[in-house]
This record gives sequence, structure tokens and C-alpha cells, in this order.
Amino acid sequence: MKTLSALFLLFAAPILGQSLDSMIDREVPSLLATYKTFHAAPELSCQEEKTSAVVAARLRELGYIVADHIGKYNEPGLVGYGVVAMMKNGDGPVLLVRSDMDALPVQEQTGLPYASTVATKMHACGHDIHMTTLLGTAKMLGQLKSQWHGTLLLVGQPAEEVVKGASAMLRDGLYDRFPRPTYAIAIHDNASMPAGQIGYTPGYFMASADSVNLTIRGLGGHGASPQSTKDPIVVAAEVILALQTIVSRENSPLDPAVVTVGSIHGGTKRNIIPDEVQLQMTVRTYKPEVRKRVLASIERVAKGIAMAAGIPEERAPIFEVLPAESTDSTYNDPALTERLAQALKRGMGAANVVQMDPLMVSEDFGRFGLDRQIPVVMLNVGAVDPARIARGERLPSLHSSQFAPVPEPTIRGAVKAMTLAALELLN
Ligand SMILES: [Zn+2]
Ligand SMILES: [Zn+2]
Repeated sequence: MKTLSALFLLFAAPILGQSLDSMIDREVPSLLATYKTFHAAPELSCQEEKTSAVVAARLRELGYIVADHIGKYNEPGLVGYGVVAMMKNGDGPVLLVRSDMDALPVQEQTGLPYASTVATKMHACGHDIHMTTLLGTAKMLGQLKSQWHGTLLLVGQPAEEVVKGASAMLRDGLYDRFPRPTYAIAIHDNASMPAGQIGYTPGYFMASADSVNLTIRGLGGHGASPQSTKDPIVVAAEVILALQTIVSRENSPLDPAVVTVGSIHGGTKRNIIPDEVQLQMTVRTYKPEVRKRVLASIERVAKGIAMAAGIPEERAPIFEVLPAESTDSTYNDPALTERLAQALKRGMGAANVVQMDPLMVSEDFGRFGLDRQIPVVMLNVGAVDPARIARGERLPSLHSSQFAPVPEPTIRGAVKAMTLAALELLN
């Protein structure tokens, strides 16, 4: 008897994998139509009004209990367009599955027949793929209710690109109004992996992001009389070069960190030494202690160079981290990641589920884990035609005006992976 049940277990996963394939096959035409509708009508962060209404309506049609307009921002006037769909199916764990919903201020250049119809707005990060995947997964799990038990929470999150939406939903009582999840999972498309292939990374997966403003203040004056000024442009130039040594000389080579000055503004005319120069930076790290040290170093270096230039104390540089535009690193719970990877390899084949390197881009999905109190995992799904990878073509990255995921295999792989992951965790 024992051998028999062991045998059954051995074969159960592939059988489910195959029947799931045919279930997804039946759904693909409607999922592709949904994807193209989302893609053609992008809405920016905090403006996802119509998009979220479609997500909510579709989930209601699938039999979920749906709440919408969830999310409270700190900025007055912003409306939270978060969607939560719940399906209770007996006792068991609570699984949160999240898709983001917002698009980017990019003018699409793909030339696709279903390209964005809205000028200067584009789903250039694939959040349209994610929403379609959420709806496909919702449909599969509704049909497979006999195979799982517990509570499913499907979340449509607004404002990911400005890393505000997850916090806004939590601030609006997400975990008071709905059961607190046992696990939270998400998937993001990947602009360098073959379409439909799943990537996983145990541990640190995406970096923390800090938006930093640095105002270098000097004492302005005539461009022909530098001796009677303190030139903030020269100080800014020195600061920018000195900042490069924070990563190269102060940081362990084994701790990834990036300090990028992406914007510099100062001065109005060639013969005027201005009063100040504005620098805007992004800082990326994984470990909280590295993050703290790098930010402190930026302030120290800037103040030290200003002091060396003879800028008076009361005109010292102003260093500012913008909390509303910053986010923690995404840490994939290692045990949960391995468990999901094994389940996906059984259901999709080992060649289609590969371990990948961590990324220095950032996400606010990790916030749903409440500082690692709830284990979270974010997976990736490849979105690129494998022939283009084989030819060694230069591939447009996420956020590029040329980014064009291959819809069918990408959505197929993502729906299968998220369905298998949910079945594994709601077991
Ligand atoms: Zn993005
Ligand atoms: Zn994204």
C-alpha cells in the first residue's frame, strides 16, 4: 500500500502538469486578448483607475470576493486603486499572489499592432503580463478547487514603479481587512531570459533603492572673479568623483552596491558662478548595514569636500534621502524559494526552471513580507524569443521603448508557474 501511494505521488505531479497544460491551452486565446487590451491602454503609477476596474471586474466574474480602491498614500489627493480578490476554500494557509498594474512614461517604439494608444505612456516593464498572469492563475485555481485548500488572496497593486503602492495598501489595512498571509509570491517578466522559462534566486534577489538629493551650496559671483566666490560647480565635480570611491574603496567587493549620480543641475550663464548645484542620485544595496554605511559615506564625502574648499559651515551641503521614493531590498526566503523551485521543476521540467543571479533593480513587493515576518518569493519569467538570444542580439531592457515580450509563451509559462506554486503552498 505504501509503495502504491508513493508511486501515485511520483506520477501525480506530471499528470497534473499535463492536464494543467491543456487547461491553459483553452484559456490562452482569451488571455492574449486581455493582455493586448491592457498593453494598448497603459496608466501611470497612482492613476490605474481603468486598469484596476478591469482587474476587479474579471476577478468578480471568476467567483472571487473582490474589494477595490484599496490604498492610502501620504500625499493628499492621490487615490489608491489597489484590488484584493479572495477565495476561501476550507482550512489551510493563506497565500497572497501579487501583480503590479502601473505603466511608465515612455513613448512606445515597438511598432506592434497592439502598441500603446496613449502618447508617452507604455507598459514597458510588463506589468500587463503580470496582470494577465494573475487573471489566468485565478481562473486555473478556481477550476482546480478540489486540489487545494486554504485562502487565496490575489492582489492587484498600484504604483510599483514609484515604490509606493505596497505600503499604501498595507497602510489602508490590507492585513486587517483580509487574513494575514502565510506566504506571499509574485512573478516579474525578464528581458534577457527565453520566453516562458522560470528563474528563481534564493536570498537577496533585488536591491534596496534610495533616492538621494544633494545640494552643494557655494558662494556665487562673477565668473571672472573666482577668488571672491566659493564655486559649487567645482565642488560638485570633486564630490561626484570622490563618490566613486565609496563602492570601490570603502565597501567589501562581496557586497554589491551602486552609487549613480543621474542628474546634475547648476548655473544659468557662462560668466556667473552659481550659488548652488543640485545632484540627484540613486543608491542600490542588498544588506541593510551596507545601505546605512553607503548613505552615511555620501553625506560625509560631500561635507568633507565642501569644508576643504572653504565653504562655511552654514553653507554645508544639504543631504536628503527621500523615504517616499525609497524601498528595502527584496529577500526571497531561501527555504520557500527552494520548495517552489522543486515543485516547478517537477511540473515544468528542470530545464525550464533555472537559478538566476540577483538583480540591482528594485521592487516594493518585499514590503508585503513585513520585514521578513512573512516569507516572500518573487520569481522571474523569461519574455524573449529564444532565437534572438541564440543570435546574440542586443536585447531591449525593461523600461525600454522597444521592450516587447513574446506574449504567448511568456504568459503560458507564468500562469503555469504561479498555478503550480499556489497548489504547492495551499496543499
Ligand atoms: Zn519597472
Ligand atoms: Zn516592473
